[in-house]
Amino acid sequence: MAKVSINLATGSIQKEELIVGIDLGTTNSLVAFINPDKNPQVINDTGKGVLVPSVVHFGATGDITVGNEAKDYLITDPQNTVFSVKRLLGRSYKDIENYKDFFSYKVIDDDSESLVKIKVGDKFYTPIELSGLILKELKVRAEHALKTPVNRAVITVPAYFNDSQRQATRDAGKLAGLDVLRIVNEPTAASLAYGIGLNPDETKTIAVYDLGGGTFDVSILQIQNGIFEVLSTNGNTFLGGDDFDRVIVDYWIEKNRLNKSEVLADNKLAQKLRLKAEEAKKAFAHQSMVNDKIGDIWCTITRDTFEELILPKVEETITCCKNALKDAKLDIAQIDEVIMVGGSTRTTLVKKMVAEFFGRPVHDELNPDEVVALGAAIQADILAGNRKDILLLDVTPLSLGIETMGGLMDVIIPRNSKVPTKAGRQYTTSKDGQVNMKIAVYQGERDLIKENRKLAEFDLKGIPSMPAGFPKVDINFLLNADGILKIQAVELRSGVKQEVEVKPTYGITDDQVEQMLMDSITHAKDDVSQRMLIEARTEGEQMIYTVERFIQKNGSFLSVEEVAETDEYLKTLKAALAGGDKDLIHKAIDAINEFTRPFAERLMDQAISVAMKGKSVE
Ligand code: ADP
Ligand code: MG
Repeated sequence: MAKVSINLATGSIQKEELIVGIDLGTTNSLVAFINPDKNPQVINDTGKGVLVPSVVHFGATGDITVGNEAKDYLITDPQNTVFSVKRLLGRSYKDIENYKDFFSYKVIDDDSESLVKIKVGDKFYTPIELSGLILKELKVRAEHALKTPVNRAVITVPAYFNDSQRQATRDAGKLAGLDVLRIVNEPTAASLAYGIGLNPDETKTIAVYDLGGGTFDVSILQIQNGIFEVLSTNGNTFLGGDDFDRVIVDYWIEKNRLNKSEVLADNKLAQKLRLKAEEAKKAFAHQSMVNDKIGDIWCTITRDTFEELILPKVEETITCCKNALKDAKLDIAQIDEVIMVGGSTRTTLVKKMVAEFFGRPVHDELNPDEVVALGAAIQADILAGNRKDILLLDVTPLSLGIETMGGLMDVIIPRNSKVPTKAGRQYTTSKDGQVNMKIAVYQGERDLIKENRKLAEFDLKGIPSMPAGFPKVDINFLLNADGILKIQAVELRSGVKQEVEVKPTYGITDDQVEQMLMDSITHAKDDVSQRMLIEARTEGEQMIYTVERFIQKNGSFLSVEEVAETDEYLKTLKAALAGGDKDLIHKAIDAINEFTRPFAERLMDQAISVAMKGKSVE
């Protein structure tokens, strides 16, 4: 791939520029780079520390803080302080409704299938925007520490992240003004940090055990010819170091004969206890007992007691390791290396039990909370072509995707993917009785298809007539080693199928590729904002369609006033759609949801009572 980038401060084109590696974590985020001695190094911006807590606070005057300062607001201003946003990235409300109580801030539940939003004050934020703010902070810190513009990055994600979560991470990078060269799996990065997989001749099977603040995952990877394949992943997204802190707090509450619900209701006290517990937990790395006080509450605990208390949690992670091995169809003896990742693997008992389970010493030479970022920096260096010893595999220079609602580009194979590759996604119809689906294939980095290059267009014909949202159309892209792209569309319910082939590199010069990449960097931020506006509009239009149909069918269940009022809400939404303010659109959608929710419930009750009388509804 051509090496180009733009210095956003001066507008000049830079040929050689630093690419940083970023670990965007649930609890903590950090950034690393390759120093002039060619070693990976984490960035510590003057006195602020290496780890940036992944917390964002919104002040009353519109001021935004990220990191340690924002973390303090978790006690004093929880409604306006957003944490663990990574859990929401690329997720719909349906995905998260089972654990919505976990969040102290407002997650919008308009029970739609679209991506979640968060309400702070009277503003709506997407997890992409919030993650973008964290990435922006990291970028600023890196620029400050290194005294050079930082515009390109490799960002890591958990191996289990799906397509939508990966795309959301890319978009967050764009919003932060970063050109995201590649999304890398966290276990892959950790492996690179230990130098495993850097030699293309070696074949290895490794286990990466990652215990962070609130999440646990274990991945089994096979490394062959420099390619990292994830054989299996397992874990628990609600198990981590925070649980260790909690068991200590519970222990102190019990020993001091306090009332647990009273203590936990006192936000400040609860948080103080939690912080003290975290301190104690960390101290056990080098001492066997902690003896302290908060007011007249004794905070005393021995390491033996601590280990006894956390044992069930650690055992649970070992069960996950067993399951991961089983899914990968491997025996313990077939694992060549075990790598420890995540701050919580500093806990002695964790290390001991993992080493015992795998029957070998684990890799813990590097800082477990830095290892992913260090590996990301190495991956960045490889992509920059600075490692002559490592063969860069053939990659696609531009992303490949299709047009979706509102003229948006939906990327199926991201740029910089290794060739050959295949990827696919499922789509559906937007109108009732739609029997044809236009499939337009594009190449490029811009969010609007009109700015990208069209490669092909065809109609998938003969979809059986069904209500909107019912047909299931699988679209698969297959890019072979010769650079030929095969696009296949199948409607799963009926089996209708259509296929075309194109050569994306045909008729485009290297200079044009460079130009397209540069344009995408300069327009990245505007592009994402436009995309979000279009997505809001699409959601709004869908809403109007649904509500109008509902009134048509079930208007008789509602009072005249209710119908009239619904009409007013629709008018407000229509007016918002005509404008360019996505917050206003979300606000109007939210208002309709709030107002009409009881109707659906009432209808359900009526339907049930009618059904019980033995009559059929409709
Ligand atoms: P994430 O990947 O979820 O963002 P990290 O890898 O940064 O999280 O891990 C954060 C967790 O590591 C916190 O629960 C923190 O208390 C824990 N941790 C940090 N240092 C230690 C230590 N010395 N001993 C035990 N736990 C630790
Ligand atoms: Mg992590």
